[in-house]
Amino acid sequence: MKDTMKYILPLILLISISLPVLAKDWTEYYFQFEIQDKSELEFLTDIISIAKVQGNVVWAFANDEEWQAFQQLNYHPQLLQKPGYGIEQPMRDVGDSFRDWYTYPTYDAYVAQMYAFASNYPNLCQIYDIGTTINGRKILFAKISDNVSLHEAEPEVQYSAAIHGDETCGYMTMLHLIDYLLSNYSTNPRIQNLINNLEIWINPLANPDGTYYGGNNSVSGARRYNANGYDLNRSFPDHWGTPSAPTQTETTIFTNFANNHHFVLSANFHGGTEVVNYPWDGTYTPHIDENWFIDLSADYVNTARQVYSNYMTSLYSTGYTNGADWYIIHGGRQDYFTYFHHCREVTIELSNTYITPATQLENYWNYNYNSLLGYLENALYGLQGTVKDVYGNPLTATITVLGLDTVYSTAITDPACGDYIRMLLPGTYNVQISVNGYEPQTFNNIVITEGQKTTLNAVFGVIPPSQTLQLNAGWNLISFNIQPNNLNIESILSPVMGNVIQIKNLKESFHPGMDSYYNTITNLDITCGYWIKMNSSTSLYLEGTPIDPSTHPINLKTGWNLVPYYPENILSVISALQSITSYLQEVKYFNQVYIPERINNSLTQMEPGKGYWIRVLQDCNLIYPAAKN
Ligand SMILES: [Zn+2]
Repeated sequence: MKDTMKYILPLILLISISLPVLAKDWTEYYFQFEIQDKSELEFLTDIISIAKVQGNVVWAFANDEEWQAFQQLNYHPQLLQKPGYGIEQPMRDVGDSFRDWYTYPTYDAYVAQMYAFASNYPNLCQIYDIGTTINGRKILFAKISDNVSLHEAEPEVQYSAAIHGDETCGYMTMLHLIDYLLSNYSTNPRIQNLINNLEIWINPLANPDGTYYGGNNSVSGARRYNANGYDLNRSFPDHWGTPSAPTQTETTIFTNFANNHHFVLSANFHGGTEVVNYPWDGTYTPHIDENWFIDLSADYVNTARQVYSNYMTSLYSTGYTNGADWYIIHGGRQDYFTYFHHCREVTIELSNTYITPATQLENYWNYNYNSLLGYLENALYGLQGTVKDVYGNPLTATITVLGLDTVYSTAITDPACGDYIRMLLPGTYNVQISVNGYEPQTFNNIVITEGQKTTLNAVFGVIPPSQTLQLNAGWNLISFNIQPNNLNIESILSPVMGNVIQIKNLKESFHPGMDSYYNTITNLDITCGYWIKMNSSTSLYLEGTPIDPSTHPINLKTGWNLVPYYPENILSVISALQSITSYLQEVKYFNQVYIPERINNSLTQMEPGKGYWIRVLQDCNLIYPAAKN
């Protein structure tokens, strides 16, 4: 018995570790009720999950606790048939054609379909598994871009659907969109333009535990909430208020994903009504880009209405609304992305039905696909560019439209590539680009044109003065005409240390291979010339402050001196040494010699980077000529 336990116990532990923690059982309530005044929604939104408001009628969902709290208020709700419990939808399984757009996939068929996109179009599509839900299902993103395995300096755009598990039109529309983008890339210039210039991230199913609450083989039984019984679209960090739902596993998966990316434009898709809802959801204060959002929303609706003129008319004749004007929510992903990530996100309610009947899915695709492409195209326009330092390294910069931008609306560069985009209505703007540690740069009268990209790149910093020393194998006689900030000899030689055998001047020596006892050089002395012995040829690049010869006289002693050469340019020996003409007896560089009274000298010029032997009659100061400006 005991012996058996020895094997069973680790097995039990293993199983309990690898199995997801199953969520508690809970009831989802769907109901409608009436309000007297719209202001009541401001406190109701934190008690129940409002799904739709039309006139004074409210449709909402609740878990057990929320339902109990709501029962304390005198609203006389009318319980309704839950949307997920309607007619059984036709399903397709793994192996069935995924282009049968008149069926819903089983959960396994969905996962297989996502990975099939990547294996069918490996150059354009990769699947990212960004995390596992409470009940062990995957949250998957398709990344679609040319050079898909690279992170390029391209705007990152995002679509995510079905955060409410029982709102399935977006789920299917996103699967169709992925297929449409990939299968039309080779022939359709509009698709090529999108895929070549953007990184498109599409998450068809944000809440798989909700959609497949009734089991992996059916969307019947789908729920709005996650497996724990919370509305994920009320669980995101919220600047304007406290999220109505606690942070969930799925919330953290999405916020971690957001923190590791740089999304500039996004939309999340819902159902239950038909409307485009733009920020903010959490405050009546307009977003400073409200007019831009209206333009964007109107474009979406009007493009769709070219296919079906009655589309998105169920709530507003315009087809769009300010979020808070419709009803306030706290903890939605739209405000989260738009506020904290300076992204621009809208919420798009695609269909009046929650679980769109499979027979209607193709209609909704036809209404929406042009709008979906047009929406992404916004990230091809506006003000775009890169911010880098003088070496071409990307910088974290803030791009501020002067007189317009506020704390949440400025564009921020993607630190990985230094690229940014600020989408704007057509007009003329003054723009400031700022980077920590530098003076901000201002660019006036930047013109933004409808449907065009305006490029504005900025470079910060200046290249410090530098010197490149050519070092040959064997002994070299060298000197420096710039003073590095760090004079430590090991630091200066570190780029070439593997090639250095020994460096020495008249007093000191440094030999990387020898005990430190013998290494007497600690800091470079810029008033000396040096011998350096290399095991192979290389060059040494140094940055620092140019040495001004007029303030750096070189003290020469009677006889031979090993001296540096400070001028930036090659000079004749006569010009270079004019300050000591009266005392000069001889100059040497290896076997090249200069003697003043001799005619055919083998040494006639002095040049930067070299060290020289100079013999003088008496102590004197060598002052090289100042550089000509
Ligand atoms: Zn929804």
